[in-house]
Amino acid sequence: MKRLKVVLATGNAHKRDEIARIVAELKLPLEIVDPPQPLPEVVEDGATLEINATKKAVEVCHAMGMPALADDTGLEIDALNGEPGIYAARWAGEDCDFRKNIAKALRLLSGMPPERRTARFRTVVALCHDPDEPVDLAEGKVEGRISDWPTGGGGFGYDPIFYLPEMGRSMAELDESEKNRISHRFRALLALKGVLTR
Ligand code: IMP
Repeated sequence: MKRLKVVLATGNAHKRDEIARIVAELKLPLEIVDPPQPLPEVVEDGATLEINATKKAVEVCHAMGMPALADDTGLEIDALNGEPGIYAARWAGEDCDFRKNIAKALRLLSGMPPERRTARFRTVVALCHDPDEPVDLAEGKVEGRISDWPTGGGGFGYDPIFYLPEMGRSMAELDESEKNRISHRFRALLALKGVLTR
């Protein structure tokens, strides 16, 4: 199958790296190329991961004049009614960094027993071939729970407090290839492969 040249609609280097490795590992029929010009600033103001992923893919596809692949990820903590959800990036305030987001999660869950700390990462990927055509969408999620304190130096974002009971480790304690075989992002791209090759 001929590979489709795509740009990644994200400025997040961690995400770009993970997506590129997973795309290669899964042999998706996509060839990731450098954007021909700087990516446009896309405002993520949609109410769902699907809307935000679609918006990023379509706006970047339009601006670059070529297909674009976007990912939008949320963290849903059950004891907080699904918060931060789609607001995972700016949860602790507009200019917050990851230490602050993690500190907020740990503070809000302080004293809660492990069985009440269940959570999941959910990723939606959107592939826009042409801004005037519907996008291809696929979703992946991974279940875990929020640990009592951060562990591990790998991954990014909330990985140090996202504990995977089956692995007995946090997402940040997995090496790159382990994370990329079980993650929400891996599962979303695997589902996208099904869409592209059906
Ligand atoms: P977005 O998809 O860039 O909107 O991501 C939402 C927030 O979740 C960002 O602040 C990310 O850093 C965080 N996030 C996204 N993917 C992951 C992941 O694989 N592990 C941990 N945190 C993540």
